[in-house]
Amino acid sequence: MFWDQPVETLSRAELERLQLQRLQDTVRRVASRVPFYQQKFAELNVKPENIRSLADLRKLPFTTNTDLRANYPAGLLAVLYDETLRLHTSSGTTGKPKALFFSRRDVDNAAELCARSFVATGVTNKDVFQNMMTYGMFTGALVTHYGAEKVGCLVIPAGPGNSERQILLMQDFGTTVIHITPSYGLYLATFLEKHGVNPRRDLKLRKAFVGAEPYTEETRLKIEQGLGLDVYNSYGLSEMNGPGVAFECEQKYGMHLWEDHFLMEIIDPQTGEPLPNGERGELVMTTLCREAMPLLRYRTRDMTSIIPIPCPCGRTHRRLNRITGRSDDMLILRGVNIYPQQIERVLMATPGIGRNYLIQLEGLDEMTVKVELAEAGFDGQVGHLLDLQTRLAENLRAEILVKPRVQLLPPGELPISEGKAKRVIDNRKL
Ligand code: AMP
Ligand code: ZN
Repeated sequence: MFWDQPVETLSRAELERLQLQRLQDTVRRVASRVPFYQQKFAELNVKPENIRSLADLRKLPFTTNTDLRANYPAGLLAVLYDETLRLHTSSGTTGKPKALFFSRRDVDNAAELCARSFVATGVTNKDVFQNMMTYGMFTGALVTHYGAEKVGCLVIPAGPGNSERQILLMQDFGTTVIHITPSYGLYLATFLEKHGVNPRRDLKLRKAFVGAEPYTEETRLKIEQGLGLDVYNSYGLSEMNGPGVAFECEQKYGMHLWEDHFLMEIIDPQTGEPLPNGERGELVMTTLCREAMPLLRYRTRDMTSIIPIPCPCGRTHRRLNRITGRSDDMLILRGVNIYPQQIERVLMATPGIGRNYLIQLEGLDEMTVKVELAEAGFDGQVGHLLDLQTRLAENLRAEILVKPRVQLLPPGELPISEGKAKRVIDNRKL
């Protein structure tokens, strides 16, 4: 099923022609309106007329997180203040927020890309869409809300949390599609189990869009089994519209990045140099259609790779592999590079282990992994689970090469998160 078949199936040559034309427009636009880019262009001695092919993209400067914060609140605007229609901020964890402005056309394009993404998963106007992302300054809920309305779904702006009410809404209004973070998805699965709700019997759920934070294939499986539906990976960031940047199609294998709206590069995060096709590195994106706040070569810090083969669905826009973390959330423990997702993968694959966990770094260089036991089979005691604890510590060591302390907790002991989970607490005195 397609939302915009001609665009979604453009040949590579046609797509690249469109990309070049849009890139040139974008570069002209920022060169004439945005002092930040005017200065960068002057430093690098580039002019809009130097951009003659897509390969010339590399002549352009990178834009970083820090640049966005330094130009807060409205320094990167490429339209008049009056021409802006909506403001979002990004849920960055430290420092000043990033302010992201949308023009009327930007708002419409963002919804359009969501509509395109949803239909690619098989959603139709008959679906009932329960949006369990946080409404507010974040792009996550609002942008998908308008996308689902564009498709013609009944949209339930539930927001996250209050799981009892979520289930009532699902039952009373026949929800078929949910939009949820992986951490809340796992929690909700446990909640259903605990309250004796059998999703296949008692609910009409068929699909979940899951994103906003990294998660593993094992987590996908747990959510799919626990909620009785298919999970589609959804990737986006506020700097690039929010959700609807890259999305899995019905194949559920890799996320099509909508290349008529964004140029992508995969670079070595240390050197900034492009990596060969298919290699894993940092995703860098350039907006091709943004009016209010175009961004050139934005360093997302998200680590991924391009799937170098075409998708059987017929869409020609290339696919990204699962985001395995951010180049900046990598932990270094006793000199070893560790991604929190590696730990998650081991936990989720271990029988008897539940769904909520926390990684604590403390002392000089010590790691403790706190994890809840699974509800099923838990008898109220944790003392005699020494064996499981030892095994888990060994499995973790095999994966991350250093041996953490493991602390098993009764189900429900760790704080639950409804938005983005904070999985790592770093209190080390280094
Ligand atoms: P925000 O701008 O607040 O929406 O945050 C965007 C960031 O969330 C991205 O840069 C990623 O680090 C993360 N993110 C969003 N979707 C996914 C996903 N499907 N998988 C992994 N990380 C994601
Ligand atoms: Zn596909």
